Amino acid sequence: METGRTAVRVAIRVRGVVQGVGFRPFVYTLATGLGLAGLVGNDPDGVFAEVEGPAPAVEEFLRRLERDAPPLARIEDVSTWAISPTRSGKSFVIAASTSAGPRRTLVSADTATCADCLTELSDPADRRYRYPFINCTNCGPRFTIVRDVPYDRPLTTMAPFAMCAACAAEYDDPADRRFHAQPVCCPACGPRLTLDDNDQDPIPAAAALLKNGQILAVKGLGGYHLAADAACEPAVAALRARKHREDKPFAVMAMDLAAASDLAEIDATAAALLTSPARPIVLLPHRAGANVARAAAPGNRQLGIMLPYTPLHHLLLASTDSPIVLTSGNVSDEPIAYRDDEARERLKDIADGFLTHDRAIHVRTDDSVARTFRGRPMLVRRSRGYVPEPLTLDSSFPRPVLACGAELKNTFCLAQGRHAFVSHHVGDLENAETLRSFTEGIAHFCRLFDIEPQVVAHDLHPEYLSTKYALDLADAEDLDLVGVQHHHAHIASCLADNGESGPVIGVAFDGTGYGPDGTIWGGEFLLADLAGYERGGHLAPVPMPGGAAAIRQPWRMAAAYLGDAALANTGLANTGLPVAKRNADRWAAVVAMAAKGVNSPLTSSAGRLFDAAAALLGVRDTINYEGQAAIELEQLAEPAAAEAYPAGLETGEGPFQARGSDLLHALLADRTGGVPAPLIAARFHHGVAALIEAGCLHLRDQSGLGTVALSGGVFQNTFLLHAAVTRLEAHGFRVLLHSRVPCNDGGISLGQAVVAAASKSSAAGRRLAGPRSGSRRTGS
Ligand SMILES: [Zn+2]
Ligand SMILES: [Zn+2]
Repeated sequence: METGRTAVRVAIRVRGVVQGVGFRPFVYTLATGLGLAGLVGNDPDGVFAEVEGPAPAVEEFLRRLERDAPPLARIEDVSTWAISPTRSGKSFVIAASTSAGPRRTLVSADTATCADCLTELSDPADRRYRYPFINCTNCGPRFTIVRDVPYDRPLTTMAPFAMCAACAAEYDDPADRRFHAQPVCCPACGPRLTLDDNDQDPIPAAAALLKNGQILAVKGLGGYHLAADAACEPAVAALRARKHREDKPFAVMAMDLAAASDLAEIDATAAALLTSPARPIVLLPHRAGANVARAAAPGNRQLGIMLPYTPLHHLLLASTDSPIVLTSGNVSDEPIAYRDDEARERLKDIADGFLTHDRAIHVRTDDSVARTFRGRPMLVRRSRGYVPEPLTLDSSFPRPVLACGAELKNTFCLAQGRHAFVSHHVGDLENAETLRSFTEGIAHFCRLFDIEPQVVAHDLHPEYLSTKYALDLADAEDLDLVGVQHHHAHIASCLADNGESGPVIGVAFDGTGYGPDGTIWGGEFLLADLAGYERGGHLAPVPMPGGAAAIRQPWRMAAAYLGDAALANTGLANTGLPVAKRNADRWAAVVAMAAKGVNSPLTSSAGRLFDAAAALLGVRDTINYEGQAAIELEQLAEPAAAEAYPAGLETGEGPFQARGSDLLHALLADRTGGVPAPLIAARFHHGVAALIEAGCLHLRDQSGLGTVALSGGVFQNTFLLHAAVTRLEAHGFRVLLHSRVPCNDGGISLGQAVVAAASKSSAAGRRLAGPRSGSRRTGS
């Protein structure tokens, strides 16, 4: 054993999110505090260090290295090995960064202003007093300003700002909180905030404008927002009208937890999410009587709330002294504006003023959105604050994979080693702008993480732009292609989210996904693992009269379901129904269209079943945003009601069919009987949950599987989710839910990536337990 007097020297390699998070100053302070000599530096592989001194001190150093790491560091791996002491004295130095070799280090996400910076921000004696761009190694912009790696100032959008002497001194001092903080700056040398390019003090003037009921464009971390006084009904209504956004809720930013608590009910999980460094928008139960304009979230029991995450937000909120609506800076469904000229052009008819600055945004990044379920966070949109940090999986990707995602709420995913880098929210891939974000984003991620994909995974839908991109890329670069069925990708995503590999009973309920049998799937019960799946059951298919028109007009789905034989015989399906009267001019034609199958693709979609229920109940005949009818049906449902409409399964050869029309039959009977709508909505939800329960029990009998994975956008419906999980757990099922990636199509890319990896690494023809007769083994 060492006596403690002999010097030892140990080399250390730390991997993970260890750059741009204050890791080297931490190592420096720790080592010098223990009287150790040596060095620390960054290279493309992470952080390297050597420490030399008495063995007990070196051991203490290694103990604290992981335990006391800086708050934003995420250590994935520390390796150490003994080397010969150099006896070069007591000095500890920061070694120069090197950029040779493979890049395996991780870029951190943008991070909310830290407590130390907030103290300085409000200290009149501090040289950064009220400076809207204050930051340090523990906080500030990261992903949104990084142009390339290694993460050093010249490769960020801070490059044009030459540090002043005072900032440079902090930057170079290993004991300083701003040591090598790449975005470090101050009023003397950093970015400048302006309101409408004039000389007035921008923050008070901007606050006055908001207080005056005007609408403000505010340049944020990942793009422009539009702001209005949240309590001012005319201002919020004007914002809605000018944005051409009829109903979709706006998010509200409140100064702090106390102010947020005035607006919504916040439990411990939600409070932790709201105050986390990622600062997502959190969907919370709206507090009755809260002083928020009705136009902020019309007809919604929930309110999306976030807390300030940049110094600019803190200053603005302190100045308005009341919550503001803060919604993405765009018109209707366009992507959020992030380049200054483009923002001025696109938002000029919406905003009465522009609160902007001269630090460029490199990657457009929307706010993340989360909710909580049973004490767990569930991300609905994973973007700013989370991206680009990878999901670390238990098993390795045998070859680098690019997964191109779906069409709506697109994300892509690049995977290599044990890391899956799910991209920021790209958006709906239906215009040139989002397609450009998609292709540029992929190129950016490939460069940042030094990944050259060898496998490209894609959805089976031939018309998705992401599919077309995948086919073109594979063709041009001679890469392997893996087509992954949409709902299999959902279930695989849920498995990866939970660090599992199946097999499970997967329930994938959503609006639309391409089925290999030529119909549109969306109410699927799969027996699945990562490598493959088998369709165990599904909602009974119904026609979608008019195709895509039926998605925008839920009343068409009501007509389609009413044309169903089971309902037609009940006598309830007649033109005396209110939904038929409201749409009398086209009702008969649409019923006939569905019956004859003219321009009426068949679908087993759960989303369309919710649409039909919403229309039959008079909730909504047409929608203004995706999922609106189902969302409003959920809002209507009476939380205390527990009764469920019954629905049958038709079993036999092949996949079972669950009769969604049974639920609508019961709904119509209740409606005719004068049962209050909130009770009907609740019974319908419980009926869908009972149908999920019945389907899973049936498949458990057949397969012996006792774990259920729930995925697909329909499970954003927490009323349904709660009812389904309760029923499944009562039968002893283990239930897997999403948490780190969305259950909606934003999670598809991760699922595609793990399916591509599994289908390439596992033996062909791997079998799942379960029924085989008549069902299709659809290799993904
Ligand atoms: Zn800070
Ligand atoms: Zn400075």
